[in-house]
Amino acid sequence: MVSGPSWTATVVVTLIINGPTDDAGHEDVGHPERPERLRAVMRGVGDLHLGDDLVTVAPHIASRAELARVHDVAYFDELGAYCYEGGGDLDADTYATYDSWSVAQYAAGAGLAVIKELQIRKSGVGFVAVRPPGHHASRGRAMGFCLLNNIAVATAELTSQGERVLIVDWDVHHGNGTQSIFWDDPNVMYVSTHQWPFYPGSGAPYEIGGLGALGTTVNLPLPAGATGDVVRQALLETAAPAIDEFDPTWVLVSAGFDAHRADPMADLALSSGDFAELAILTASFAPQPGRLALFLEGGYELDALQSSVTSSLGALLGAQLASEEPTSGGPGTEVVANVKEARLAALRVANDVGQ
Ligand SMILES: [Zn+2]
Repeated sequence: MVSGPSWTATVVVTLIINGPTDDAGHEDVGHPERPERLRAVMRGVGDLHLGDDLVTVAPHIASRAELARVHDVAYFDELGAYCYEGGGDLDADTYATYDSWSVAQYAAGAGLAVIKELQIRKSGVGFVAVRPPGHHASRGRAMGFCLLNNIAVATAELTSQGERVLIVDWDVHHGNGTQSIFWDDPNVMYVSTHQWPFYPGSGAPYEIGGLGALGTTVNLPLPAGATGDVVRQALLETAAPAIDEFDPTWVLVSAGFDAHRADPMADLALSSGDFAELAILTASFAPQPGRLALFLEGGYELDALQSSVTSSLGALLGAQLASEEPTSGGPGTEVVANVKEARLAALRVANDVGQ
């Protein structure tokens, strides 16, 4: 186990802002997943004043073979063709432009570049600061602002090398795409804290993984208003024992910051200080330095996004940079206990069926 202060002073960042059409076509239409988000994220990184300890990695396009590990080829071929024809709405809240296919391939490849850099350095923490986000994208469907599942592409690369990957998803929404992609994969553990009931509707505690991977999906739904202490309690009491048993060799984080209390899209009540605590806790699941990377997902209030990036990355470097205190006292303590029971009951039933 490695804790934050003994981590390392290197942050590996890769950055995809957006394509030109994105700026021209969507910056002024009020879509929440907008280019200013990444500018806020990079202000948050800049507030760390890392100097030479900030290493920026040039992303490359994820190859067809790398994408095909987690997506249907027919799906991404159709997506690419749709974009080259000019794009449009993929569902009620997910759009694509002419440039989106290219940008999405770079976003998926960015995670691969960060992983490779960390493997060379054998130290540091990775931060994949890209858009579009990825955790709602499933094998064959774009959804929830997501086109390609960036963290899944990186995870599949690691498992192809024999690694056992823990994905911690602290975005306020359940990462239904990531869960479904690795549902039957015993080499990937997916742990999610999320508001419940809420979009996209999945993420119940009895969703525990397929018969070949029972227990490797850990869902921790939380009620609106839940504070950071409740999120930490859920992770420590229910997820941590399962993670210890799983024994990951890598930890990747779906680091959405829309569980912040200022975020306009959801109703959890976390502060930037809570994200610092979550980062430290998550890092403790990694076996050694250089095996942790954060992937940007949601986060739609720009000041909260900036300060949460600063505090969470700062915490991993041993710096106390949180501008807000961690929160406590919100609802959900009983829910956490009930979720734990529901998960254990589902595991008992599934094990009985499997025998
Ligand atoms: Zn989200």
